[in-house]
Amino acid sequence: MGSGQGKEEVGLRMSIPEDVTKFLRQHKGVAYCDGCIQKNVGLKLRQQAQRVTGAIAQTPEFIREKGLCSNCGGDKLVTKYS
Ligand SMILES: [Zn+2]
Repeated sequence: MGSGQGKEEVGLRMSIPEDVTKFLRQHKGVAYCDGCIQKNVGLKLRQQAQRVTGAIAQTPEFIREKGLCSNCGGDKLVTKYS
């Protein structure tokens, strides 16, 4: 707070859940696996995506199920905005 020089922490963002939900909303009805969400949102770890998709799956807006990822074609747990 004292120094005038603001240090920008690139890569350390506090809005991971927002980024993930925004990404899925932009691709309504399209299923993505955690790995593809991680890459598309630009997260460092897949666990970061996993944590968010696991949480938003509890809401009626998002569906998390076993299926084909629209991006990589993998047969795994995918999340989509319905
Ligand atoms: Zn995928």
